[in-house]
Amino acid sequence: MAAPVTLLWFRDDLRVADHEALAAARAAGPVVGLWLREEPDAAGDGPRRLGAASRWWAHRSLEVLSAELDALGIPLLFGRGSGVTVVPAVVAGLGASVVRWTRRYAPSARTADATLKAALAASGVEVHSHPGFLLVEPWLVAPAGGPVYRVFTPFHRAAAEVPVGPLRGRPAAQVLPPAVVDAAARLTATGVVMGLDALDLLDADPPWWADTVGAHWVPGCVAADQALADLPDAIAGYRTRRDRPDDAASTSRLSPRLRFGEVSPRQALAATRSAEVSADDASAWVRQLYWREFSWHLTHHVPRLAWEPLRRQFAEFPWSPDAALLRAWQRGRTGYGLVDAGLRQLWQTGWMHNRVRMVAASFLVKNLLQPWQAGEQWFWDTLVDADEANNPVSWQWVAGCGADAAPYFRVFNPETQRERHDPEGAYVRRWVPEYGTDAYPAPVVDLAESRRRALDAYALLRAR
Ligand SMILES: Cc1cc2nc3c(=O)[nH]c(=O)nc-3n(C[C@H](O)[C@H](O)[C@H](O)COP(=O)(O)OP(=O)(O)OC[C@H]3O[C@@H](n4cnc5c(N)ncnc54)[C@H](O)[C@@H]3O)c2cc1C
Repeated sequence: MAAPVTLLWFRDDLRVADHEALAAARAAGPVVGLWLREEPDAAGDGPRRLGAASRWWAHRSLEVLSAELDALGIPLLFGRGSGVTVVPAVVAGLGASVVRWTRRYAPSARTADATLKAALAASGVEVHSHPGFLLVEPWLVAPAGGPVYRVFTPFHRAAAEVPVGPLRGRPAAQVLPPAVVDAAARLTATGVVMGLDALDLLDADPPWWADTVGAHWVPGCVAADQALADLPDAIAGYRTRRDRPDDAASTSRLSPRLRFGEVSPRQALAATRSAEVSADDASAWVRQLYWREFSWHLTHHVPRLAWEPLRRQFAEFPWSPDAALLRAWQRGRTGYGLVDAGLRQLWQTGWMHNRVRMVAASFLVKNLLQPWQAGEQWFWDTLVDADEANNPVSWQWVAGCGADAAPYFRVFNPETQRERHDPEGAYVRRWVPEYGTDAYPAPVVDLAESRRRALDAYALLRAR
């Protein structure tokens, strides 16, 4: 009897190494891959729609994945729509009897996956979901009285105890049965699957933006492997260098790789263990990797984190929405050097240094009193590492309404931060060449006055 054909639905796992679902599928027989530009299902469930920078990254990363899979004899098909409409059609067209995927954890995406799983099971198709996006499944750790940790340190302590398991190697190449090759061709002819270009992922607006960002990154699992090999250099001195945006190598820049699963967090962890770096630097870096786990732990347990404050009383916060102020911030024209440099770095490269993300976000929500959701949405659209958990959780942390949050009354001073973290001014000069000249905008707000206003708003909230 011929071995059963497996459909492997790739989502946030665009790699071939250390891939549990791929390893299991190859061990069982022939494999065909699928990636979808997803839309919500009939119940409105599914992952958050990709922002412009993520669409660009996904397109480029999928080109690389497709070539890598091709070398293994695995075709990668593309489709558009919800999983529950497209996946069963592809399964039927290929005559596949097993579907595998790497798990995802945002509540709406999980609900969509559960709906699909039930539909496939009802038609006799086996479905297997695999770990791989996180080090620790979010339900494996819980505080007393659980299920969700709201403070990072105890979460980290518990999560670090959970064994991570061995790395998986690259799978062996296959020869796909001719009948499956023909079936895939028929699916293409009927329009159920299509070419990558037909997914229109590169419709980013404005069009020049993708070229600008493209000058700074090489997406895809091949370049990601190189970034992983370079990780020891990034970790050397991490504990003291990590807050310096003027030092281009002060952090790993692995975030879009982890976001799209071009590397697994387990590979990253393994790389720190084999790296010849100080234990202090390695543990400081690994701690950040566990902040990612913490964000996903929260996101798994708390629906709608991207839209609603974790601390419910913040729903009443007296924000002061102002389109002109938001625009000045988005375009890096606030008159504060570190904030403007960060927003321009983001616009031009799709990435911003963590320290500057914190200062820029604090400036928006506290000094400008703009709702954190407006900043979160801007980051969602422009970051190449825009992550359904890290982004909203970090914004809520800065705004003071999230888990383990900085207290609302702690307002970053962007000028002191600039002097401390960019002491020679190299970072600001790089992204804001007119800084310090007459061409540079005047400050949009007074720091002392806007800080006072933020503290008054906070006092009002507490009094309610
Ligand atoms: C307002 C705001 C928004 C953010 N939005 C995102 C986002 O959409 N996607 C995203 O991946 N990170 C986000 N972060 C967290 C952090 O800024 C980035 O992960 C980091 O800058 C990525 O650079 P790196 O890979 O060089 O990090 P490194 O310092 O080398 O850290 C290694 C990895 O650890 C993880 N990590 C590091 N810091 C954090 C953190 N504070 N919280 C969670 N995980 C962390 C990332 O996966 C990162 O790649 C945000 C932070 C703030 C303050």
